[in-house]
Amino acid sequence: MSLSERVNKIKPSPTMEITAKAKSMKENGIDIIGFGAGEPDFDTPDFVKDAAKKALDEGKTKYTDAPGLPKLRDALIDTYKRDEGLDYKRSECIISLGGKHALYNIFQAIVSSGDEVIIPTPYWVSYPDQVLLADGVPIFLETREEDNFLFTAKAIEALVTDRTKAIVVNSPSNPTGNVYDQATLESICQVAIKNDLWVISDEIYKDVYYGKNKLRSLPAICPEASSKTLVCSGLSKNFSMTGWRVGWTLGDESVIKAMIKIQGQSTSNPVTFAQYGAIAALEAGPAHVGEWLKAFRNRRDTLLKVLKQIDGISCLKPEGAFYLFPNISGLYGKEWSGGKIMNSYDVTRFLLEQARVAVVPGAPFGAPNNIRFSYALNIDDINKGIDRIKEAVALLK
Ligand code: PMP
Ligand code: GLU
Repeated sequence: MSLSERVNKIKPSPTMEITAKAKSMKENGIDIIGFGAGEPDFDTPDFVKDAAKKALDEGKTKYTDAPGLPKLRDALIDTYKRDEGLDYKRSECIISLGGKHALYNIFQAIVSSGDEVIIPTPYWVSYPDQVLLADGVPIFLETREEDNFLFTAKAIEALVTDRTKAIVVNSPSNPTGNVYDQATLESICQVAIKNDLWVISDEIYKDVYYGKNKLRSLPAICPEASSKTLVCSGLSKNFSMTGWRVGWTLGDESVIKAMIKIQGQSTSNPVTFAQYGAIAALEAGPAHVGEWLKAFRNRRDTLLKVLKQIDGISCLKPEGAFYLFPNISGLYGKEWSGGKIMNSYDVTRFLLEQARVAVVPGAPFGAPNNIRFSYALNIDDINKGIDRIKEAVALLK
């Protein structure tokens, strides 16, 4: 029996795959340093866990409304008012089972067969496949490392057709850690207004930013495009709640209504006691992230310094998220006992087998000359990983 054409169009998530592979190698006694997982190593704050435990003890174990508890949606509205000065109504927000699920439902809600979605490269691995799952067509906006992976309104407009439905923005970015400047964000909004496109703003790394001021949500930066902007985020990164599966979308009422319909016919509500934890998280705000940022910054700088010293590797200094995305094309053509290195998959295999270090190849992010390091692991392991990489690269001929 054949599977659907739809599922045959997509591939397994490479970030999830490499993370699972490194985990299983560790479980089998192989000493692997995992730079693969895009998941903070910090624990979920205790007060969030306590709120979920209390909910369980009080018997909050039943279904809730499909778009989430009214109290959680109101906490979300209050959060965006408090932190961003933005006004949303309950009918303009939905809680989903993580940011990934929120994005999936957005594409299901707005993309018809053959509709095009513009995705700047390098992109998070799931955007194109989620567009394909909605029978849409991902259209890639190629950017260059020498331009800091930024682009202009002209470059976006060159890709707009009468089938274009949306453009995806992800700042800070996974995989580059890059933060879009004001001009780039404004050009996206201008093109969206002019061509009547949705802007899908994936802000999951908004609080993981090393600059001076806090980063703002896109509708606070470009209010004139707020009716076209679907803000998508969650608690996985800023509260280290990856396993809790809480994310959300804020924006146009008709899109949210469609997403609620999809959710009501697919997953129903996000996990009930996780929602109570989420209320506590939103009410308190991400004050703890300041401490995490100090550790992240130290790890970023430690890893970056060494990567830049390695012949054949260059790397931009990112201002957000917890990823480094070095260019490793200088290693192409070199040989080791496992063969000749010709692409980012070969570099990944070389590092895994020779250095026992797990990274993610750049190709599935639309960047064939790069690899992705997540530095969401402790500094001792980072230092150990660095030594192994240096040793392994020295063996290349
Ligand atoms: N967007 C980006 C760019 C991400 O890196 C992730 C991480 N998985 C997500 C969305 C979704 O995260 P989650 O589903 O855990 O909320
Ligand atoms: N977003 C994380 C990453 O890129 C987690 C894995 C995933 O959901 O893709 O590694």
